[in-house]
Formats: sequence, structure tokens, C-alpha cells
Amino acid sequence: MVHIRINDLENYAKENHVPIMLKDGIGFLTDYIKKNNIKHILEIGSAIGYSSIRMSLVSTDIKVTTIERDDIMYNKAKENINAFNLDNQITLIHGDALDIELTDKYDLIFIDAAKAQYIKFFEKFKHNLKDSGVIVTDNLSFHGLVEDSSNCSRNTKQLVKKIKKYIEFLKDNKEFETEFMSIGDGISISKRK
Ligand code: SAH
Ligand code: MG
Repeated sequence: MVHIRINDLENYAKENHVPIMLKDGIGFLTDYIKKNNIKHILEIGSAIGYSSIRMSLVSTDIKVTTIERDDIMYNKAKENINAFNLDNQITLIHGDALDIELTDKYDLIFIDAAKAQYIKFFEKFKHNLKDSGVIVTDNLSFHGLVEDSSNCSRNTKQLVKKIKKYIEFLKDNKEFETEFMSIGDGISISKRK
């Protein structure tokens, strides 16, 4: 039996520079899940399994499917999910989310993977969203760089441009209405109109 606590995951992420959700961001998300009685969740970007574990711990009848493409992250997530005894609640898929075909419909889809691909993730997985479901996206502020990236490298500026494009895509969207929150690293909540 491996003894592990949420705090250990947070420390591991800090030491190894794994970009897990910020404390108030994950706090907001787990409250939202509780308040809205959300049971069936899809997450794009597992990293070490931190957010999927936190969401699963809200209630024993919550099921999370989470996708991770990086081998090291995938293995770490598997180990952590197992250590928390959450294999019955969390389905971890190894692969690039853009190559994975899912047939299930979810109450909540959480996009927290490669920022340059946010529009692609949204367009692909909206077909897996229940009519009443929500798509939540993380890191729309990108450590404040979306507001000001004047001192950044060309690569970072390019990424900021992609995030701004995603924000515009959400603002102009005909199908979805989006609320933007300055919680954590910037979170959006999109619902069908
Ligand atoms: N949701 C996690 C943090 C995810 S960090 C948490 O808060 O605990 C982003 C992760 O997305 C990284 O581990 C990265 O490898 C993964 N990722 C990026 N692009 C991806 C893709 N196209 N498909 C699957 N995983 C992807
Ligand atoms: Mg994130």
C-alpha cells in the first residue's frame, strides 16, 4: 500500500516544473463540479493526474476519462491514480487527444493541454458534450502574458497569439456562450446557447 497525499502531488509538480492547476483554479473547478452535480468528465491533458484525482475525490460516483500523450507523464499519472485507489473512477488514456475517438457524452470537458491546439480540441470534443454540458478551458491568461507579452521570446509570443485567437473564437462562437474568469491562470466556461 502506497501512502500518498494531495500535498505530495503538489510538491512533486513544483519540484519537477509540471504545470498542474493553480490552487484557486482547482478549488473553483471542484466547487463547480459539486454545485452542478457533474458526474461524467473528460479531461485533455492529465500530466501527473493531479486535477483528475482532485475532481474524482469530489464524489465516489464521479467518473473521469483523461488523455495524456507524454510517456513520462502518463506513467506518473498511472502510478498516482493507482496510489489513490482511483482506478475504478479514472480511465487514463495514453495518446494524442487529437487521435483519440470517443463515443461517450460528458457533462464537463476540461481542456488543459497544448495551448496551440485549443481550437482543435474544442471543435473535436464538442461532439462528446451533452446538450447541457460545459467546456472548461485553463490557462487563458498564460501567467499574465496574454495581457502583456512584450518582453517574451518569439516562440512565447507565437503561443500568446494562439491563445488570443482561441479567446476570439470563443467570443465569436455561434453555438457556445462563454464566461471568462480571472481565477487561477484564467479559466473559461462555455455552454451551448
Ligand atoms: N490537467 C493537469 C495539467 C496538465 S499539463 C493538472 O492540472 O493536474 C498539460 C499536459 O497536457 C501535459 O502533460 C502534456 O503532455 C499534455 N498534452 C499536451 N498536448 C496534448 C495532446 N494533444 N494530447 C494529450 N495530451 C497532451
Ligand atoms: Mg493548466
